[in-house]
Amino acid sequence: MIVSLKEGADPAAVLRALSARGLWVSQVERTAGGGPLHYVIAPHSAAANPVELAAIEGISGVTTSRSPFPLVEKQGPVVEVAGVKIAACAARPVLMCGPCSVESEAHIRAIAARLAPLGVQFLRGGAYKPRTSPYAFQGHGEPALRWMRDAADAHGMKVVTEALGEADVEMVAAHADLVQVGSRNMHNYALLKAIGRTGRPALLKRGMAATIDEWLQAGEYLLAGGAAAVIFCERGIRSFDDSTRNLLDVGAVALLAHVHHVPVIVDPSHGAGRRDLVLPLGRAALAAGAAGLMIESHDDPARALSDGPQAIPLGELGSLLLDLGGGVS
Ligand code: PEP
Ligand code: MN
Repeated sequence: MIVSLKEGADPAAVLRALSARGLWVSQVERTAGGGPLHYVIAPHSAAANPVELAAIEGISGVTTSRSPFPLVEKQGPVVEVAGVKIAACAARPVLMCGPCSVESEAHIRAIAARLAPLGVQFLRGGAYKPRTSPYAFQGHGEPALRWMRDAADAHGMKVVTEALGEADVEMVAAHADLVQVGSRNMHNYALLKAIGRTGRPALLKRGMAATIDEWLQAGEYLLAGGAAAVIFCERGIRSFDDSTRNLLDVGAVALLAHVHHVPVIVDPSHGAGRRDLVLPLGRAALAAGAAGLMIESHDDPARALSDGPQAIPLGELGSLLLDLGGGVS
């Protein structure tokens, strides 16, 4: 947005009026020949009504520039996935829980049977796993998608699972209610387009070094490609400090929920990498405006095939969800 000043206006007074409304000027331009000033409003300023701004003393006009993510903005703060409402700043969080990886048919079925009575709406679990080492467990692939779908259906749950590569997209979309884009793939535009073409809703994890603008534009790729909806997922970014696995960016959650008005799910499991921080980070995420939480959980974390240290034991999950203001007793 660009605010143009009247000839002879007091620039300091206009700046004060703008900052009083939470609007910050990122650039000052002057019309050639020494004419009036133009203030470029920083993109992460508060939302403002251009008509109200144009009425401020000293302002001659306001030009709204086209957003780089118009479809994300148009989608708004509330989406529905398979009948489940996912809304920014939710009074009750949507819950997506399950193991890091789908380990076997019996295992995922037993986990779903324990999650459903806790009020967990989405069963999570990876059939295709993005592992740092090529020698680590890579997921059971297509059979795991079927096991997960059957387990979720048996207990009235929805499925969220990752499509790791373009070749898996059709298969994942056929089994999932919500197709997850992993952190390592947020910048994979060919994959985003392929997921968009399926018309399924997508859960877009933030790239571990992605700016918020890049993340929002990746969401735009999904919607422009045909995705029914996009839900953003903050899962922590890389930092200089390795005390926690990642740095959960609660500020980004607040910005997306309160300024961009989009639904954000927060994944404190990958954010912290340790189960003892899942509750406090989950609380922080919800206070910042999250729509819900993705929490890795396992019946026996010490034997998990991946991400055991961050998994909440199933026996402890019910009370943790209640502490977070979700779930059912
Ligand atoms: C996951 O959800 O299991 C996962 C691999 O997450 P991320 O892409 O955030 O690392
Ligand atoms: Mn994991």
